[in-house]
Amino acid sequence: MTPQLSDNYMVTIAERLKSAYARIALAEKKAQKPAQSVSLLAVSKTKPVQLIIDAYQAGHRKFGESYVQEAVDKIKQLPHRDIEWHFIGPIQSNKTKPIAENFSWVQSVERIKIADRLNKQRPNNLLPLNVLIQVNISNDAAKSGCPVEEVPELAEFIAQSRQLTLRGLMTIPAQTDNEAELIASFSQLRACFDTLKTQYPSMDTLSMGMSGDVEAAITAGSTMVRIGTDIFGARDYPTQQH
Ligand SMILES: *Cc1c(COP(=O)(O)O)cnc(C)c1O
Repeated sequence: MTPQLSDNYMVTIAERLKSAYARIALAEKKAQKPAQSVSLLAVSKTKPVQLIIDAYQAGHRKFGESYVQEAVDKIKQLPHRDIEWHFIGPIQSNKTKPIAENFSWVQSVERIKIADRLNKQRPNNLLPLNVLIQVNISNDAAKSGCPVEEVPELAEFIAQSRQLTLRGLMTIPAQTDNEAELIASFSQLRACFDTLKTQYPSMDTLSMGMSGDVEAAITAGSTMVRIGTDIFGARDYPTQQH
């Protein structure tokens, strides 16, 4: 799997990763959070395997994908044992099996039926699947995610599932240019996370913040940001919006 692209191209992905890390470090500092308390998920959906290899060779290990078939094809081409694959897209119930078999994390669980299928389909020879509940903080009818008031029941179900580990919450907020509004939405999820965490000590991950809103998310207490565009460039087809 020798990279065929020019060295300049390699430097580009490495440099973009480096600036993503620098951006996170600056936001941590400004928000008075400990250095390296926020991890980076590189969102490689729609992008060729070669770009994932470039990022891997630059030292990156956590990658996020949104489309099941595309993701499984890539995972099979990259049998590196130390890549941590996160599924972050909408989950249809007929697609839970390949997710349960190929990923180590799923960030987009929003109902019990899906959690139940993932639990039953997670192979016994693999560690339990790490699960984040996707929460609809804006309670925007057009957005996906579990309504805030239903999170406790879903959390309890996941916590009771032998082949799942409840690791935390994820959100995609409604789009807005209003920074204060964004921080308020993200802070609402942080509060929900802190409350649940007292009951479920396995919860350690609050996934919020994308290319457009990293600073607001970190200010509000994100522990993981998911960046696609700023690392791999613009995509030709749209991001997850049902
Ligand atoms: C596509 C996607 C991202 C990355 O978005 P960018 O704006 O490209 O950084 C993050 N999270 C989810 C759930 C996504 O679907």
